[in-house]
Amino acid sequence: MSLIVQKYGGTSVGSIERIKNVAKRVKKAVDEGKQVVVVSSAMSGETDRLLGLTRELSSRPDPREQDMVVSTGEQVAIGLLAIALKELGVDAISLTGWQVPIYTDDAHTKARIKEIDTKRIQSELAKGKVVVVAGFQGINDKGDITTLGRGGSDTTAVALAAALKADVCEIYTDVSGVYTADPRIVPEAKKIPVISYEEMMEMASLGSKVMQIRSVEFAAKYGVKIHVKSSFNDEDGTWIVEENEDMEKVAVRGISHDLKESKITVVKVPDKPGIAAKLFKALGDENIVVDMIVQNVSHEGYTDISFTVNKTDADQAEEIAKKVAEEVGAEGVERNDKIAKISVVGLGMKTHAGTAGKMFEVLYKEGINIYAISTSEIKISCLIDEKYAELAVRALHEAFIENQETIAIK
Ligand code: ADP
Ligand code: ASP
Ligand code: MG
Repeated sequence: MSLIVQKYGGTSVGSIERIKNVAKRVKKAVDEGKQVVVVSSAMSGETDRLLGLTRELSSRPDPREQDMVVSTGEQVAIGLLAIALKELGVDAISLTGWQVPIYTDDAHTKARIKEIDTKRIQSELAKGKVVVVAGFQGINDKGDITTLGRGGSDTTAVALAAALKADVCEIYTDVSGVYTADPRIVPEAKKIPVISYEEMMEMASLGSKVMQIRSVEFAAKYGVKIHVKSSFNDEDGTWIVEENEDMEKVAVRGISHDLKESKITVVKVPDKPGIAAKLFKALGDENIVVDMIVQNVSHEGYTDISFTVNKTDADQAEEIAKKVAEEVGAEGVERNDKIAKISVVGLGMKTHAGTAGKMFEVLYKEGINIYAISTSEIKISCLIDEKYAELAVRALHEAFIENQETIAIK
C-alpha cells in the first residue's frame, strides 16, 4: 500500500470553505487506496496575528513563551481538518507535535528536528485512519513546545516523509509549483517542471519562500521525492529530485530575492590584523548568522567593514558592532534596513561562463548600484537598494530566462 505525506500551507486552509476543499483532496487520495499523513500549517495570517499579540507585550518576548503562543495556530487547523474529514466519512485523528512526538533541540523559535517517533502514527494508520499532524512544532528534552522557524511546516512534512519512508511528499500551496521567479512579482515567470535539491536549496536560502530551506536539506539527505503543487487546481507541479546531467544545460534556473536582511557597517576601522576576527567572533558567540561580508580597500590606514544579518537579529548585531567599534577605535556604526539581495541560481553556472558579467551589466543598464556581491558555484547574489528589488528581478528574469537562447553561453 502506498503511503503519502501531504502538506497544506496557510492559504490552503485559510477558511472553513478551504478546509473543506482540502478534506476533499485528502479523501480522493484515500479513495485511491493510499495511506495518508497530512501536515497542516495555521490558517493564513494566524501565525502573524499570534506573533503580533506577543509583540504588544514585549519587543523581545521570551522565546519559550512565544513558542507556546504561536504553536496554537496549527493546533486549531488540524482539529478543524480532522472534523472536516470525519464529515466526509473519512476516519481521521489530529496530533500536535508533542503528541507524535517530534523531538527537537532547545533552540526556541528556530528549533531543529532531531528525531521522530513514528509508533503512534503507524498504529493510527494501521487502524485505517488519516493522521493529521500539526506542522511547525515539536517538543524538546524538557517537554517544552518548540517551533521550527517561519515556513517550518514544510520541514515537518519532509521529515515525516523521511521517517515514514513515504513514497512522496506533496507540498500543496497557493501557486502551481516552483517558478523561475516569484510569480507575484514577475507575471512572465514559468513553472519549473523538475529542479534539483541543490538548486532548490539555494533558491530557498536566497529568499524563495515557496519551500523552507531546511525541508529541502532534509529531502536531499534522505532522498525524499517532493512534488510542489497547488491546492486549488489539478495541474502537475514541480518535482524536486536528485540532479541529472540535463539540468546543467541552462545557466540560470531561477531568480530569487530577499528583503529580510539588514546591512550593518562599522565605519573607519583601523586597518590592523585581528579586528574582523573580533567582530565576527562576537556575533558568532551570540548565535547570529552573518551572510554577506565586504571590507573596503584600506584608505589612509582605515577601512569600512559591512555585513548583512537577518532583520530579526539586526538590533542585537548592531549593539554588538557598536561595542566592538568602541573597543577598536572605529568611528561608528551605520545600519541600513532598506536593502535587497537579488540572486541568480543554476547548476549550469558550473559549466557556463559569463553569468556574473551579464548580471552586473543588466543591473548597470537599469542604473542599479551594487553594494556587495557574493558567489558560490551555482549562484551569484548582489546586494542593492530595496526600492529597486522588483525592477532588478524583472530585468534579470527577462535577460536570463525569457531570452535564454540569446545569452552568451560559452
Ligand atoms: P504556504 O503557506 O503554502 O507555505 P508560502 O507563502 O510559504 O505558502 O509560499 C508560497 C509563496 O511563495 C507563493 O505565494 C509565492 O509568492 C512565493 N514564492 C517566492 N518565490 C517563488 C518561486 N520561485 N516559485 C513559487 N513561489 C514563490
Ligand atoms: N504557520 C507557520 C508560519 O506561518 C509555519 C508554516 O506556515 O509553515 O510560518
Ligand atoms: Mg510556506
